[in-house]
Amino acid sequence: MNRVRCLVLNAALGPLDYKVPEGMTVELGQVVECPLGPRTVVGIVWEAERLPGTDVPAEKLRGLRGLYPIPPLPAPLRRLIEWTADYYVASLASVARMALSSGGALKGPASITEYRLTGGMPERMTPQRLAAMEALEGEQATIRELAGIAGVSEGVLRGLVNQGVLEPVEVDCDRPYEEARPDFAQIELSDQQREAAETFSAAVREKKFAPFLLDGVTGSGKTETYFEPVAEALRMGRQVLVLLPEIALTENFLHRFEERFGVLPVLWHSSLKSTERRRAWRAVASGDAQVVVGARSALFLPFAKLGLIVVDEAHETSFKQEDGVRYNARDVAVMRAHFEGFPIILASATPALESLQMAESGIYEKVDLPSRFGGAQLPDIDTIDLTEEKPPHGMWLAQRLVDGIAERLERGEQSLLFLNRRGYAPLTLCRNCGFRYQCPNCSAWLVEHRFTRRLACHHCGHEAPSPAACQECGEPDCLVACGPGVERIADEVAERLPEARVFVATSDTLNSPGRAAEFIAAVEAKEIDVIVGTQLVTKGFHFPELTLVGVVDADLGLEGGDLRAGERTYQQVAQVAGRAGRGSKPGEVLIQTRHPEASVIAALAAGDRDAFYSAETEMRRDAGAPPFGRWASIIVSSEDESEAREAARRIGDTRPDVPDCMILGPAPAPMAQLRGRYRYRLLMNARRSVQLQDVIRHWLGRVDHPPGVRVAVDVDPYSF
Ligand code: ADP
Ligand code: ZN
Repeated sequence: MNRVRCLVLNAALGPLDYKVPEGMTVELGQVVECPLGPRTVVGIVWEAERLPGTDVPAEKLRGLRGLYPIPPLPAPLRRLIEWTADYYVASLASVARMALSSGGALKGPASITEYRLTGGMPERMTPQRLAAMEALEGEQATIRELAGIAGVSEGVLRGLVNQGVLEPVEVDCDRPYEEARPDFAQIELSDQQREAAETFSAAVREKKFAPFLLDGVTGSGKTETYFEPVAEALRMGRQVLVLLPEIALTENFLHRFEERFGVLPVLWHSSLKSTERRRAWRAVASGDAQVVVGARSALFLPFAKLGLIVVDEAHETSFKQEDGVRYNARDVAVMRAHFEGFPIILASATPALESLQMAESGIYEKVDLPSRFGGAQLPDIDTIDLTEEKPPHGMWLAQRLVDGIAERLERGEQSLLFLNRRGYAPLTLCRNCGFRYQCPNCSAWLVEHRFTRRLACHHCGHEAPSPAACQECGEPDCLVACGPGVERIADEVAERLPEARVFVATSDTLNSPGRAAEFIAAVEAKEIDVIVGTQLVTKGFHFPELTLVGVVDADLGLEGGDLRAGERTYQQVAQVAGRAGRGSKPGEVLIQTRHPEASVIAALAAGDRDAFYSAETEMRRDAGAPPFGRWASIIVSSEDESEAREAARRIGDTRPDVPDCMILGPAPAPMAQLRGRYRYRLLMNARRSVQLQDVIRHWLGRVDHPPGVRVAVDVDPYSF
């Protein structure tokens, strides 16, 4: 090859042509240094040799500067990158960046310097230094990362290094991982589990594409079951990727993994330290990382010899990325298995309608685990009609639910109250003038957090101390909380059952693996009687003494009225219900609602999943919604309201006239303002036969915008 076309990662450009200098040999997929203007940037050799339509004459081409000492991206991964860019109408470079983990970390030495406290004191102590030293207790990371943790500048920390308060530690990013042993511990599977496991393991041995939907009720032992094909892949010397929705809360999973395989898996998620990130990336690319457990971004890693992907809790919305490249990791994972030729297991107790439909049409093979392991029964589910059993004034829990908790207390059992709202109250206003506290950057109310005495926006992270007086009328002590959040429910439980030990479990309180582990240990040691939690506690936990689950407000999810509201509510409630009665004691679930007759609630109460799915299927069919039709949304945003509106109008005015494709809008997006940007949305709904991506690409390619305008495409959006 003497000329190549390269994907240039840190530029919004299409592929560029380069000359391969004398004496350099490159392969397709090779990561290279490309000159771009005055800079040198990371690129990937994407196409080679005779390129039709290349207009730059050979003598004008600039030469590649060098090679990165890492294996070239394999052909199936390049194909996956192309497919993803094409399907989600994104640039190749933005997808390729995910595979290279932003490129920057690839070169350079195999060791990185981290710092940690020495235990020494600075000559001159300042409040800032003291605060930094407290924050860094037990931490070891690069200066930049430590500065982030301590919330101080890097300069402050360099000062501490000079004073001997922080000391350097060389971390070798190539030190090997301990070997996972497929036969470390054998688990005796039940008959139904063994049959499922055998089906998967046989597919692993075949080394062919085979998509499975593992449809098993909560507590049926899906994890134990898919550990067997993981072991099989390891015996064959192949790598495994397990995608989990909530990487922060994997304690229980990691513990079980270690018991089964003798070591911890390699972790991949966005908050890894740079040394861990580099070590994991290199081991993935060399084939040394045997099992990677990761968040969705792990999907694009350059595995050398991947032989199996498991997507656990495959219905979870967190597999859908909502900014940058808006992809659904569940679906891209299936494509990766397809391109590379190995099986994939989508595991869930409440599969997405799309996945069930794929199984129904024979594309996925459905494997069922219909009963709980060890004879544990599924919990009894009952509704509490809040219009009849009204909670006492100013309270949110019906007496029957509180009585249920009291009973558990007496028996030394545990209860879980589920409400998907962090903080104390979702809306805060002034008692005197009615002023409502709104986020300055978003169309959202500020949420009061009493533990931290702050008002926070749950969309952009804006925070302010709770004001002592109304910012509008000046009335002191005037804040009124409207509606319940988990903190308020916890207060109510404490008030009505003073002897109960209550814990609020949300991303605010369980924000690190250490805290999650403490929480689990406290529940297991029975130091907590009542857990009040958000979606975070609906999955993965296995607490045998937890026998009552109360759903504080089942109507909450149905309010927005979007087409997935019913499915989401069903999944959430079924998942949280699945936390009850997992041990030998039977579980009970009480669902508070104002609409016991709604089809979702009725199906949950009757334990009739099929009824729910068939009603939902009909509704989707009528609406032309997925999986029967396709949706895409186009979001036009700008910091300037009129600029955004104007750009959206121009796009709307040039809408193409395509048969079987309806284009709605523009209208203000559901979040009309987000992180300081005003947003307008156009919605497309098309028959499956329409090449939606082609339509969008041609259409948007014809419209120009001022530089402040951003146009984002969301194919198969989650909410519509
Ligand atoms: P799911 O993911 O389907 O909700 P889990 O895999 O978490 O179910 O299993 C539920 C509980 O049952 C876990 O504590 C698990 O260790 C236990 N379990 C499942 N299958 C077995 C088995 N074959 N032998 C021993 N324990 C099992
Ligand atoms: Zn905000």
